[in-house]
Amino acid sequence: MVEVALVAVAVVFAFAPLRPASIEAWYSTSIYPHVERALTPLSNGVPFAILDLLLVGLAVAVIVILSRAARDAWRRRTWRRLLTTLAHFLAGAAAIYILFLLLWGFNYRRVPMPQRLEIDRTAPTSDQVVELGLMAVGQMNSLYAAAHEGTAPPEWQDATLRSAFADVQRVLAEAPPVEPGRLKHSLLGLYFRWTGVDGMVNPFGLEVIANPDLLPFERPFVAAHEWGHLAGYANEAEANFVGWLTCVRAAPRHQYSAWFYLYWQISGEVNGQERARLNAALAEGPRRDINAVIARLRRDEIPALQHASWQVYDKYLKANRVESGLRSYGEVVTLLLRARFDPGWTPVRRGARPSSSSAP
Ligand SMILES: [Zn+2]
Repeated sequence: MVEVALVAVAVVFAFAPLRPASIEAWYSTSIYPHVERALTPLSNGVPFAILDLLLVGLAVAVIVILSRAARDAWRRRTWRRLLTTLAHFLAGAAAIYILFLLLWGFNYRRVPMPQRLEIDRTAPTSDQVVELGLMAVGQMNSLYAAAHEGTAPPEWQDATLRSAFADVQRVLAEAPPVEPGRLKHSLLGLYFRWTGVDGMVNPFGLEVIANPDLLPFERPFVAAHEWGHLAGYANEAEANFVGWLTCVRAAPRHQYSAWFYLYWQISGEVNGQERARLNAALAEGPRRDINAVIARLRRDEIPALQHASWQVYDKYLKANRVESGLRSYGEVVTLLLRARFDPGWTPVRRGARPSSSSAP
């Protein structure tokens, strides 16, 4: 009976038309931040990934239960035991899904960033995108030296990056600020290496898992991106936006990481001629960094596996109602070009101040 109820609740949660404004008010800015502030400090307290424990535990449980059921079915020459086991698994999957939604997943259905911010209506032109790319190159060139001197504390203990992250959260929503997560290694590290994934948030521990091969100048942006997810911005483009805004208002090494990311993103979206224009403007230092990242990806990636893993992620995003799937990555460029900013890349929230434009 409990099992039927679990499946029923999971189905209702999956298909019920919940209003983004209600999710924003009741979950993303109220229940969720408190869950994060309880769970992430615990996760930060252990050096290993809680995800590994959960995955190994789950795999062992499934194998033990399945083999017992199979042995029993064989001995009694009946399928009934196997069928009830499958029903238990279905209920287990429903329970895991419900837990996923309660711990983090409902954030997929919160108010989208373009509705949160003051946005100019016109879509950016390719000239504007190239201009932003050239700005990124200029910043990388001038920040390079400062970004590469000395050693930095781990991102989650870096006071400058932490306070920048708190500032960005305050600008974007009325919610208690969440705790930044420690970048952890995991058994999934190899998979990340093969597929070129930079990192992920484990929704069942609200902890950050990072690719073990990230170069030092890549880490701050990846950390801040994952923190964006921890702050309840589940959408990839929004996590990129939060991560970028966080890094540009922190120390030079963090700023460099943000502009480096933006260069990389834009470089993948413009045509060959425009890309050549951006590349020609790069100074020697940033160019070396770019080549180092390309070498890292070429050395480790298995193209077929990479393609397959991004397909799976695309399906996952669509299942969580991110209609654009993987394309949402590039939306950060549009967001940066269309949102209205106060000085210091501070986005203006809707209704935060009277609009001076005559938009209807
Ligand atoms: Zn992400």
